[in-house]
Amino acid sequence: MIDACASPWMNDELELLADTVRRFGAEVLQPNELRYRAQHRVDREVWRQAGALGLILPDVPEAYGGAGGSAAHAAVVFRGLGHIGNTSFGSGINHIVGHYLLNFGTEDQKRRWLPGIASGETICSIAMTEPGTGSDLQAVRTRALRRGDRYVIDGAKTFITNGQLSDMVVVVAKTDPAQAAKGISLLLVDTRTPGFRRGKVLDKIGQDGADTSEMFFDGCEVGADAVLGGVEGQGFYQLMANLPYERAIIAVGAAATMEYALALTLDYVKERQVFGKPVLDLQNTRQVLADVKATVLASRCFADHIVERWIDGTLDSALASMGKAWLTERQGEVIDRCVQFFGGYGYMLEYPIARLYADARVQRIYGGANEIQRELVARTL
Ligand SMILES: Cc1cc2nc3c(=O)[nH]c(=O)nc-3n(C[C@H](O)[C@H](O)[C@H](O)COP(=O)(O)OP(=O)(O)OC[C@H]3O[C@@H](n4cnc5c(N)ncnc54)[C@H](O)[C@@H]3O)c2cc1C
Repeated sequence: MIDACASPWMNDELELLADTVRRFGAEVLQPNELRYRAQHRVDREVWRQAGALGLILPDVPEAYGGAGGSAAHAAVVFRGLGHIGNTSFGSGINHIVGHYLLNFGTEDQKRRWLPGIASGETICSIAMTEPGTGSDLQAVRTRALRRGDRYVIDGAKTFITNGQLSDMVVVVAKTDPAQAAKGISLLLVDTRTPGFRRGKVLDKIGQDGADTSEMFFDGCEVGADAVLGGVEGQGFYQLMANLPYERAIIAVGAAATMEYALALTLDYVKERQVFGKPVLDLQNTRQVLADVKATVLASRCFADHIVERWIDGTLDSALASMGKAWLTERQGEVIDRCVQFFGGYGYMLEYPIARLYADARVQRIYGGANEIQRELVARTL
């Protein structure tokens, strides 16, 4: 979207996919965005449409129902969704769950879940956070205790994305409560299982189209084959291995959303007249937007670097954390500066820039608060 900066990792085939994402955004997501926000979720049909276009698991092998592409294909999808400021359609979660399965799942688990996730039939959630703990994952209190060949799950989760729609939840639970990291396992829970219950959709200050919810597990009994990878006690390591990937998705989305904010702002300041001339003709506007453009370009370059490392398999935890923290901070600053040029209209939710503003704040909190990201980076100093 930003001119004079072709991403070095793009090619003609990826441009075709970017076009598909653009069309999906323009024809499906954008015209319905206000309705999604009002109902606090997208329609189930949106998932199936995205699945049919290969947008949910673009980089998972075709043998498991994916589109058979690479990390570059995934980056194109997340960048494309950022370019329209999408926060309602939570396909990132399905994508991340797909990678938990691909990287750690048993063959049976891959075959059971991946095709439905790819097609959009199966919507997923990841349930890490609890009322009592979010950042400190080792302190989770949800338990999954073994009884013969079953696990019985008890506990409460909160802030769970896709919480109302999800068909499968990856639950972070203690299979050995006496241990910290080593006691944690990830369990794949079918939401039709007795003992699973959804709480209310939470009322947020932004991202209203996403169904962020509470979840409860009361004697929820699953088979031993629900443990991801089939071996207890691996959950914390599986989370640590996959979280960089989640953070890269947030980082790429943040950079793309800034491009969208700048484009919306430039359109507006060229059109809106004050004191007989366009807002863009005021020296302050020109000075500030020149800086914003530099920040947006630097952000794009940083995001491109992350994508290149993601593609060649060398994306590490520190880089993903650095990108997540830095780019989401820039996203907040850039959008805040852009809002100012809209005057009162920038505060009206009818205007996309106002929704971008409200949606951006949580980027610094979820996916691991930015303070946690800085700690992870600091360990490498
Ligand atoms: C819209 C939304 C969607 C979400 N989606 C999901 C989801 O799908 N699944 C899921 O499991 N969770 C989800 N979350 C939860 C999110 O990941 C947590 O809110 C986040 O990890 C922070 O946890 P917490 O809220 O418990 O804050 P706490 O852990 O209580 O932390 C509070 C604050 O303390 C500070 N802090 C914490 N630790 C440190 C530290 N080590 N050093 C310095 N400062 C620190 C930070 O400023 C932090 O924001 C979502 C949250 C929101 C708001």
